[in-house]
Amino acid sequence: MTSPDTLVRCEAAARTYGGGASAVVAVHGATCEIRLGDRIAVTGPSGSGKSTLLHLMAALEQPTTGRVSWPGLAGGPAPAQVAVVFQGPSLIPTLNVIENTALPLVLAGHPEASARRRAQACLDLVGAADLTGKLPEDISGGQAQRAAVARALACRPRLILADEPTGQLDRTTGRHVIDVLLAAADELGAAVVVTTHDPTVAERLTLRWNMHDGRLSTGPPSPPVTPTTVPEGSTP
Ligand code: ADP
Ligand code: MG
Repeated sequence: MTSPDTLVRCEAAARTYGGGASAVVAVHGATCEIRLGDRIAVTGPSGSGKSTLLHLMAALEQPTTGRVSWPGLAGGPAPAQVAVVFQGPSLIPTLNVIENTALPLVLAGHPEASARRRAQACLDLVGAADLTGKLPEDISGGQAQRAAVARALACRPRLILADEPTGQLDRTTGRHVIDVLLAAADELGAAVVVTTHDPTVAERLTLRWNMHDGRLSTGPPSPPVTPTTVPEGSTP
């Protein structure tokens, strides 16, 4: 049954790259829902399909089979509703930090002055107020990731999909970026999905999903199997 709070629903959504003998099934039929206010970590080793799953949810990729829908997002997965924080550098090198942060608003048709005001408020929120006039080449990786989070927040999205946002940061900086992301999501009332292979990052989120060889499991981990001893003399 559909709840109005369901932002994304994947129904046996699969993604295969290439064809024939060289086909790679990045995601096998994934079935899951993200609801308003969810805080989800998607863990799994490199190559297990985490980024592909996120891209399906952001409509950056189309499922090869199955279906992805956005029942709780009027107008579908528009950038104003679904923000993606990419792994690694994603700022446009020729624009300074505030221009980068304001860009989604400008592209959405906001007048430049109000776009800059809102971008500055987002930079303030992520503790990057002093980066405004700097070019990406003049700031650290952690600062760039804060600016990327600010840019993701600028359109006041209802869903934030962050792909290994701490993958290239040291642990302390990574913790700050997660703090900022969660605080901002609370402020906006947005759902957050973070892919990570760092258990200390995953622990910060309330729900933990796992990808393995393209297969998604959303339930709690299975309990360890304890060998059962058959009492002596009993018949099997
Ligand atoms: P993860 O994010 O967990 O590292 P990915 O979703 O990036 O995993 O990749 C899952 C699998 O799909 C890998 O085997 C990867 O090589 C393959 N893959 C991902 N993107 C592409 C692509 N654009 N073309 C071909 N293969 C891809
Ligand atoms: Mg990835």
